[in-house]
Amino acid sequence: MIDFDNTSGLFTSTQIGNTIFHGFGSKKSGGGTKIETLHNLFKTMQPTSVVIPQQTHSTHVKTIGKNTIRSGILKVMDTDALVTNISRVALTVVTADCVPIIYSDREHSIVGISHGGWKGTLQNISKNVIDSMCDLGAKKEHILVTIGPCIADCCYGIYGMRLDDFEQSFSADCIVTSGNRAYLNLVKANRENLLSSGILPINIDQSLTCTACDGARFWSYHRDHMLHGEMINFVMLR
Ligand SMILES: [Zn+2]
Repeated sequence: MIDFDNTSGLFTSTQIGNTIFHGFGSKKSGGGTKIETLHNLFKTMQPTSVVIPQQTHSTHVKTIGKNTIRSGILKVMDTDALVTNISRVALTVVTADCVPIIYSDREHSIVGISHGGWKGTLQNISKNVIDSMCDLGAKKEHILVTIGPCIADCCYGIYGMRLDDFEQSFSADCIVTSGNRAYLNLVKANRENLLSSGILPINIDQSLTCTACDGARFWSYHRDHMLHGEMINFVMLR
């Protein structure tokens, strides 16, 4: 289950629990690309490093290990997912309708995060994250995954070649049709990706909120036709 905390403006997963710092941001927690948002957010968490990827809608995963770590802010080029087994390294991605996903294997102390829109979903960025976590020693059956708030099938119209691609790669459950229009359910599609990568159904937690409908809490590229802000999402081993 995903809970919203009105004070911090963060969504957290009861499944991951508070042994691992994590959250999906809202407008209230501040613009994800603003330095003051990071300062406020990490005041109590005290990370030694905050990793910020330059997101390009790729399926690239960067593993933050002993050789790549640097204290302070670490920017990583051309990456949409991060993985680490080092404590006090805050992994972040920003979203405004796209799907933020947080991964954790508590037993082996390995965490990950990804950003994926239709491209990342179609090309299964989750698989790359899970593979990178397993390279560090994670076990698929131990990995808990939480799919955060994103645009839902009430708002996300899809057509043409993109619709064909999704129809070919995912079950009919992921596409909702209304009249002559089709809508994509990104949460269901990502859930199918996770299951196909060996994540147990019981270990997947998901948000039911639509970022485009809930204008009070979320920025939405789709709704606003421009980028007014992006939500911050993060995970960190204590
Ligand atoms: Zn909606």
